[in-house]
Amino acid sequence: MTKKTGIEFDKSDTEVLLVCHDCGGTWRAFAWTLAEAEKSAEAHEERAHPGYTGGIRQRLDKRHAKRRERAAKR
Ligand SMILES: [Zn+2]
Repeated sequence: MTKKTGIEFDKSDTEVLLVCHDCGGTWRAFAWTLAEAEKSAEAHEERAHPGYTGGIRQRLDKRHAKRRERAAKR
């Protein structure tokens, strides 16, 4: 059994549900857009898990870099 860590993004067509596994799943959030979800995930991590490496900031940077890469290819 692998233990999940970090904040999980559960994206559907209409909304994004967030759950933080570092809090044992007790922190959950809801957002209408991915951008909104990223913001609240970041805010939670800053508040509750400061200095957490491999955290949301890094993941988002990676994701944004990928998006930029794809956009550059077009
Ligand atoms: Zn947390």
